[in-house]
Amino acid sequence: MAGDLIYLSVDEARDLLDRREVSSVELTEAHLARIEAVEDRVKAFITATPEQAREGARLADERIAAGAAATFTGIPITLKDVLCTRDAPTTAGSQILRDFLPPYDATAVARLREQGAVFVGKSNTDEFAMGSSTENSSFHTTRNPWDLARVPGGSSGGPIAAVAAGEAIVGLGSETGGSVRQPAGFCGIVGLKTTYGRISRYGLIAFASSLDQIGPATRTVADCAHTLGAIAGHDPADSTSAPVPVPDYRAALTGDIKGLRVGVPREYFDQGLEPGVEAAVRQGLRVIEGLGAELVEISLPTSLSGLPTYYIIAPAEASANLARYDGVKYGLSVPRGDLLATYLATRRAGFGAEVKRRIMLGTYALSSGYYDAYYVKAQKVRTLIKAEFDRAFGRDDGADGRAAGVVDVIIAPTSPTTAFRIGERSDDPYAMYMADVLTIPANLAGIPSVAVPCGFADGLPVSLQVMGPAFAEDLILRVAEAYERSTDWTARRPPLDGAPREAIVGSGV
Ligand code: GLN
Repeated sequence: MAGDLIYLSVDEARDLLDRREVSSVELTEAHLARIEAVEDRVKAFITATPEQAREGARLADERIAAGAAATFTGIPITLKDVLCTRDAPTTAGSQILRDFLPPYDATAVARLREQGAVFVGKSNTDEFAMGSSTENSSFHTTRNPWDLARVPGGSSGGPIAAVAAGEAIVGLGSETGGSVRQPAGFCGIVGLKTTYGRISRYGLIAFASSLDQIGPATRTVADCAHTLGAIAGHDPADSTSAPVPVPDYRAALTGDIKGLRVGVPREYFDQGLEPGVEAAVRQGLRVIEGLGAELVEISLPTSLSGLPTYYIIAPAEASANLARYDGVKYGLSVPRGDLLATYLATRRAGFGAEVKRRIMLGTYALSSGYYDAYYVKAQKVRTLIKAEFDRAFGRDDGADGRAAGVVDVIIAPTSPTTAFRIGERSDDPYAMYMADVLTIPANLAGIPSVAVPCGFADGLPVSLQVMGPAFAEDLILRVAEAYERSTDWTARRPPLDGAPREAIVGSGV
């Protein structure tokens, strides 16, 4: 029975719990047993929290018995370890926060807790979410459940690998430049980056505040819609969270995408795409066309400047945000005779190499004399990237005389490659940064994008992303779910239980 409780969708689990066929304690024990069984191979967690999970499950069962269940009551969830939790350490993957126990929950966590969700553990991340593979975690590297010699992607590789491996039903990750979509693509699950401001950032450890967003990591689009519905919406504690009503995202999944105009940006197929990735994405586009959507080739040339723009803006903001880790207020402290020496010793000992690289890049870009040349220029390019998307979606005012309203959504590959080998890019920061070349433009523009599995190349998952105008999460989820319904990619499970990978993957695309 326990094995049957792994890999349920939120709707399936809800149904079993509400009909009292399964208790949350049983569902939770099944997931804790799964963690026991696979964690030495997958290594998705920094801190497993079985005791908190058991207590949460007991409370959930009481609530279900009282007839007061919400969508997530009794459902096992894992949180990327950049989300503050009042009952478990929150490390951000860094030695500088090794023993940090936050005094409060992040708003997204609090909203799930209010619903009676069960938290099974804090999952792995690149240090301060800086990375594309989890190899920058100061604890350990998470492995891709599809091939344990490969990375799961990053920085949300922990929650993503955990959900792909059946260790939790739902995960919460975070995105600054692709950190949910890229690993979701590498591990064959669904990952959402929302419109900037759709979800409160309160209690999300800051990396680059003008880009950071919490994002659901789930096995199906419907689960993603449920999760977004639970955590989205204005929060007085985050002034950048938008006072925009939260629609019923689950109800938006009608399967009907007839007549939608789908933009296919030529430049996104020109960024060192592996042939197998291109083949799977093009096949996915044909399926979408077959559902009655119209494919329109478009050009987004400014998107190509996304990567260098991001690597000015994100490190600049990071260098300011990370100034707070000084060995005085909280986290690691390496006391020395005077204050400056304490700062230096603490930061030298507490931060890893990539974080130090970002702080140096960021302070350089912000320093007097270089500020205009780098930071201000990057902000201008960012504005152009956003304007280009606005034009494609017809959200500009048409003042420049260009055609407005070309497409409803845009579909592109999520990443140029499938999951790479552990160690393959760790000595080459530029190769590592390239993993996000196709995800970063949406972050800079602040628009939503959902990554959904679209096949396999050489036995590894491939993913396409559906981007949409600001606050059109319901629309992009509808497109992703219509696609998911007419394929079976999100139903494939990684080969952790003995079945050979070839048998699961089949002939690939
Ligand atoms: N890989 C990118 C970086 O290292 C994006 C990370 C993220 O989205 N958190 O900055």
